[in-house]
Amino acid sequence: MAQHHPKDRSEPGGGTLLKSFGAEFQRILIITLIVFFVGLATDNITLALLLGSLVYIAVIYHNIYKLKVWLMHEDTEPPEAKGLWGEIFDSLYHTQRRQRSQNQQLQAVVNRIQKLTSTLREGVIILDSRGHLDFWNPAAHRMLAFNSKDRGQSVINFIRHPQFVSYLEEQQYDQHIELPSPRFAAKRLQFQVTPFGNNERLIIVRDTTQLHNLEKMRQEFVANASHEMRTPLTVINGYIETLADSNVMPKWNKPLNQMLQQSNRLSVLINDLLVLSKLETTASDLNQTDIDINKLLLIIKDEATILAQDKQQTLKLECHENSQGIHILGDEKELHSALSNLVTNAIKYTQDGGEITIRLWLDKNNFYISVGDNGPGIGSRHLPHLTERFYRVDDSRNSSTGGTGLGLAIVKHVLMRHYAELKITSEVGKGSLFTCIFQLPYRD
Ligand code: ADP
Repeated sequence: MAQHHPKDRSEPGGGTLLKSFGAEFQRILIITLIVFFVGLATDNITLALLLGSLVYIAVIYHNIYKLKVWLMHEDTEPPEAKGLWGEIFDSLYHTQRRQRSQNQQLQAVVNRIQKLTSTLREGVIILDSRGHLDFWNPAAHRMLAFNSKDRGQSVINFIRHPQFVSYLEEQQYDQHIELPSPRFAAKRLQFQVTPFGNNERLIIVRDTTQLHNLEKMRQEFVANASHEMRTPLTVINGYIETLADSNVMPKWNKPLNQMLQQSNRLSVLINDLLVLSKLETTASDLNQTDIDINKLLLIIKDEATILAQDKQQTLKLECHENSQGIHILGDEKELHSALSNLVTNAIKYTQDGGEITIRLWLDKNNFYISVGDNGPGIGSRHLPHLTERFYRVDDSRNSSTGGTGLGLAIVKHVLMRHYAELKITSEVGKGSLFTCIFQLPYRD
């Protein structure tokens, strides 16, 4: 039987191992026969068989011992052995080599990923299935001060902000959240969780302090500038009105009227900017009251009736029969202004004699307020931009209506503060439909 040399070991297939079992069986058979005949010749078969078995067990024991010694020093070549034992050692040796090479490949991948994440400016944190810290990169260490003994601890021991805790628990990860840094109060961090694998989670942390400060500066600048402009503008407006009302030379009438028109426009713009700043900078739950939606829509319709009559338009309010008695908690002044804005826009942009319909209906989870018209409609390329500040569809349409381009931005903000959203559909030449989708209040 050939002895196996580690140098020229080729991987034994399942067939070779099976053949070796056959050969070993033959060997046992031949030895047993020899021992049997020796026993027969010496007239002591039992003793001969016993001695034969003991020798065989000793050989097995010796090989097991060699295996054990080899396994204790895994880096060395496997022991030399003949036949079946040689095959077993070879199989183990090849399995071991395969595993080692796979481990090396895996380690290389892990090293590359670690190297990559260590160069990232974003913090990368991996949580295990229980939400405990498993891995983080140097940026996450800088932002959140984790150190090596924190591995295996729950992440909410380090980021205790209630908003972060509920974000992690509710598992709605399509949005990110922004919070003050738990380490430096002046810093802001943005967290985005992505689930992967077996209930594990990847958290990307970004330092948004600079962006946040810039946004705050922008909001403060707009609020301050609008506020500062309001008083001088009121004075200018007052003087122009006085002059327009007095007996000035006829050649001044046209310029004075234009000045009055433009300064009124500027006042509307400044007021809208102030409203928008207030919506951006104040908490949304300051002036919350119980609002009767049907009543509010009736008031809005009544207020808009005169405007619509001026243009010989039909203005209708249709409340679906199951929508009676809807109440929500919100800021009535804000909602009133947002919904009025939609109705005023519909009247403003729809031709004389047009039709405007306000509708209220509900389904299982939401209630809907829509304002539809059969006006000029809006091209589909404009629809995604309508709620951006100062976005206007076409200047000729707007210069005659005196709009500021801030109305729909205000509507969007107000709705956001009431956990509602605005959906806009429109077809050029047929009309537009602005639908506000509100969540129905929770009932047991
Ligand atoms: P504006 O103060 O100019 O009305 P908005 O933000 O309210 O600003 O509206 C943005 C633009 O959307 C408007 O300038 C107008 O062109 C278009 N728009 C809004 N409502 C309608 C409507 N019902 N029909 C057609 N166009 C509309």
